Amino acid sequence: MQGKTHIENCGNDEAEEEPPGKTVIISDLEEEPPGKTAANRHRFFRDIPDSIWSDWRWQFRNRITTIDELTKFIPLSTEERDQLRLVTRKYPLSITPYYLSLINLDDPDDPLKKQAIPSILEITMGRMGLEDPLEERRDSVVAGLVHRYPDRVLMVLTNICPMLCRHCTRKREWRNGGWVRTPSEVEAMLDYIRQHKAIRDVIISGGDPLTLSTQRLENIISKIRGIQHVEIIRIGTRFPVVLPQRIDNELCAMLTKYGPIRLNTQFNHYREITPEAAAACDRLLRSGVPVSNQSVLLRGVNDAVETQMKLCHGLLRIKVRPYYLFQCDEVQGTEHLRTPVEVGVKIIEGMRGYTSGLAVPTFIVDLGQGGGKVPLQPNYLVAQTEDELVLRNYQGRLFLYRNPEAQAYPELTSVASFLNETELQFEVEGAKDADRVIIRS
Ligand code: SF4
Repeated sequence: MQGKTHIENCGNDEAEEEPPGKTVIISDLEEEPPGKTAANRHRFFRDIPDSIWSDWRWQFRNRITTIDELTKFIPLSTEERDQLRLVTRKYPLSITPYYLSLINLDDPDDPLKKQAIPSILEITMGRMGLEDPLEERRDSVVAGLVHRYPDRVLMVLTNICPMLCRHCTRKREWRNGGWVRTPSEVEAMLDYIRQHKAIRDVIISGGDPLTLSTQRLENIISKIRGIQHVEIIRIGTRFPVVLPQRIDNELCAMLTKYGPIRLNTQFNHYREITPEAAAACDRLLRSGVPVSNQSVLLRGVNDAVETQMKLCHGLLRIKVRPYYLFQCDEVQGTEHLRTPVEVGVKIIEGMRGYTSGLAVPTFIVDLGQGGGKVPLQPNYLVAQTEDELVLRNYQGRLFLYRNPEAQAYPELTSVASFLNETELQFEVEGAKDADRVIIRS
């Protein structure tokens, strides 16, 4: 997973569009304890002793990767099996026994199931979206290294993940079989970073970089840390969510040697916050690795204020910072999981003021054509006079706010005239992307 090491897309004209999930403003939230390690462990894996269950290598080796294996856990009709085989030919399947154990397999709308189990909509709606909407290939300066922003780069070390999330942004990589960058490819990336002194932030991502052995990771991380101008190393991984046993003492002891290292993960639903996940995050924190969450807004998974509130409160309880809430990218094979942008804005509006700002993530749309991340939030500025603003608070009440003299800042344009003067010209580009609008100011 990462940066937003995660992706999504799809859609077709045969499939009926569902209405967006309802956003609800809630005042009296019931706080829930973290999710529990699910009963499915004892239903399906009762013969597996704790010592083996908590061995991440066993979990990794025993991932469910075929529809035949899946039918041992989920009853599927012959027609469903045929449909899902078709889907997995294009978009493979991989679920760890641990994550499978969290899914309520009897609930067709289970939010964890939607993230893990393939859907025929991945191909029936598959004409919508793009393979690589963020144009990461275009911004690859050497194989596996994306340099888009001035001071940071993204190292994609592998395309292997413990779970293949159905909403993944890098779904395009799944069909290439599993690969890990060779030592010479990694050296080429490191050389590029060494030569570009403006790079102060290196994000290690995938696929999931923690699928590499700790020794191999150390080899790479120690070399990055050896580059003087690199200040921060970030790791993008979904292991704390889908296989938290990977965050073991050996890994944490290694990471602690090369700080500052930050880890970004992706909890999308509060039921993913299990005692095992909490323990994994705690081990990271105690090793000096701050953990932030970058969730993806998904239809039927977390597209309601109440769900997001429970998720973010649960994260704070395990000392993880709710950092970003990403609009699901327009990736082929994920359209059925995407929500209108307004849903994300409404969710932020339903959280801001109703809970601590610490619990409110920034809602982000990652632009196509490599345009980068844009934060979106509700508009609280209602009007502006020469020296006053009219602002709306979280309850919808209007307030006058006196604006201090701007004389000392001649370069400042008033907020209102700034909004007015942004006259945008719209131009539709390219037959292939005819539904896209390029904005030039
Ligand atoms: S499949 Fe891998 S890269 Fe994609 S979202 Fe999941 S963990 Fe991240």
